[in-house]
Amino acid sequence: MNRELRRYCIVGNWKMNKTTVEANKLALEIKNSAGKNTDLTIVLCPPFTALDSVARVLENSNLELGAQNMHPTPEGAFTGEISAEMLRNLFCNYVILGHSERRTLFNESNDYINEKVHAAFANNLKPIVCVGESLSEREKGKTLPVVKEQIKEALKGVSVDRSNSLIIAYEPVWAIGSGKTATPEMAQEVHGELRIILITLLGKTIASKIRILYGGSMNSGNVSDLLEQKDIDGGLIGGASLEAKSFIRLIEIARSKQNKK
Ligand code: PEP
Repeated sequence: MNRELRRYCIVGNWKMNKTTVEANKLALEIKNSAGKNTDLTIVLCPPFTALDSVARVLENSNLELGAQNMHPTPEGAFTGEISAEMLRNLFCNYVILGHSERRTLFNESNDYINEKVHAAFANNLKPIVCVGESLSEREKGKTLPVVKEQIKEALKGVSVDRSNSLIIAYEPVWAIGSGKTATPEMAQEVHGELRIILITLLGKTIASKIRILYGGSMNSGNVSDLLEQKDIDGGLIGGASLEAKSFIRLIEIARSKQNKK
């Protein structure tokens, strides 16, 4: 379904890694080799502390800046938190929401993630909404009901017009940082179901434009096979985005596949 219309999107999630000096160096290396790219959407998500300096490094390039999280409230007494408006002021265009580490380590609920999704849209930030099942949920055969519930709840009340800029990331929790990747067929099964849910929620026209990324130990060795699948539109990459060489290699592979679509 309109696969050609969906430009691959590659997102690097640096998590709680890199000082500002290290982040600038990594961003510069990526910019030097992929900064002029017009084939893919490439988003770098450094920690909050490096957003400002990485934004400067990325100036005059086609690389985009994203944050790893945010608070849904515009301002106030939320010690340690960052608002959507603050991110926009730092030239962020994207924000990762509902990452499994936020869900499990920081007890973020589907309702809370939904609040953040609304706040992101209200501030012209493009949300990258993460869904995915745990190992025990997969073993009990609950993968599809779990991700369906997560996506429905995250998008509750989102208007069709706004959802144009939405990105979804399917990240099986058991594959994150573990070296275990879902097989391309396993991933496609879930991506296909997610596309069907998006059709139900937002209609076919929008759903066929929304990019659904795969995340979970994606690297330059497995990206090609994963991108072969018809509903896999890119990747959310943790470990393999922390080192310039591996991330650039992955980008090159995605780029050549995009050009063969
Ligand atoms: C992630 O944290 O979003 C992720 C996919 O990590 P990794 O690539 O290291 O599995």
